[in-house]
Amino acid sequence: MNVPLLDLKTQYTRIQPELMKVVEEVCAQQNFILGAHVEQLEQTLAQFMGVEHAIGVASGSDALLLSLMELDIQPGDEVLTVPFTFFASTGVISRLHARPVFVDVCADTFTLDSLQLADKITPRTKAILPVHLFGQCADMEAINEVAATHGIPVIEDACQAIGAVRNGIKAGAFGRTGCFSFFPSKNLGAFGDGGLITTHDSQVAERLRLMRVHGSRSEYHHHLIGMNSRLDALQAAVLRVKFQYLDDWTTKRQANAATFRRLFQEYGLEERVTLPVVEQGNTHVYNQFTIRTCKRDELSGYLIEKNIGNRIYYPVPLHLQECYKTLGYQKGDFPVTEHAAQEVLSLPIYPELNPSQIIYVVETIKQFFDSVK
Ligand SMILES: *Cc1c(COP(=O)(O)O)cnc(C)c1O
Repeated sequence: MNVPLLDLKTQYTRIQPELMKVVEEVCAQQNFILGAHVEQLEQTLAQFMGVEHAIGVASGSDALLLSLMELDIQPGDEVLTVPFTFFASTGVISRLHARPVFVDVCADTFTLDSLQLADKITPRTKAILPVHLFGQCADMEAINEVAATHGIPVIEDACQAIGAVRNGIKAGAFGRTGCFSFFPSKNLGAFGDGGLITTHDSQVAERLRLMRVHGSRSEYHHHLIGMNSRLDALQAAVLRVKFQYLDDWTTKRQANAATFRRLFQEYGLEERVTLPVVEQGNTHVYNQFTIRTCKRDELSGYLIEKNIGNRIYYPVPLHLQECYKTLGYQKGDFPVTEHAAQEVLSLPIYPELNPSQIIYVVETIKQFFDSVK
């Protein structure tokens, strides 16, 4: 048996006629930049997330960058975020010559430890950027409370968490802005790069709409300094088709997670691996199903030998990255993140995964642990 980490071809094959129809429509029109498909997608997604406004942009990274630009983040400003995330979360801070200031994550949820947040705030802190890692919201009530106390805006990195809910509120609806990615491996993936920013604030929305087109309200008249970061009509058309399936796909990811949990228990593996912890009040959308084990590297190699896709998200904490040497962080500064980076392993969880594949994965993991006993 072969179990890839992700199988986009199966998803594509099942809805190919619908997708090709809209692609052909857009090609027949030859209007490729913004336009009706983008506007309709923005409306659909704003409604889905329970926000007033959604702005389609070129990528999740750009959604984060534009959110920081909209706040007029200056060189030397500090932005609080986590060292256990994809590089884009902090790369955008550095690109504006601001400084990422790290706050460690919680060991169980891998999201920002809100108890450590207040101590990191200085007069230079201009934003807090929590990450809803793997598909579960960070502790937004506590984060928003600290943020409100100090008058600091919150930018949510919701790139892995489209549709995730926390205490009745959707990811992207907690902060000043919420940032989403349509990178093909995300739960709602385009045929290339794409992103979206959500906000409740119409003035923020207005500025972001200008900033994605070089700050111009009418052609060749520039009110703000922005950039070129638009969502393509082709991508929006594809995303509108795929969005109709998002809830169904999310339910299937959750069902697969439930099957994994049941089987890990049946095979007596709960003492060998730590399964994803879903915090009370959270609905996890499982962009990743990430387990922990101290035998991680050996297990990963064993699974690859048995044709089971798996991946380490993320092997090198951001405070220890080569490019961040100048920040002056050291090994030991964020112990929870550093320990997680040694133990995490993401397993296949995509919606089209079938029960026999899940059984094969768990059986193989059982074999592995029997062989190292
Ligand atoms: C995917 C991702 C991004 C960046 O999205 P792109 O669309 O690839 O630019 C940012 N943050 C996190 C946590 C992500 O997973």
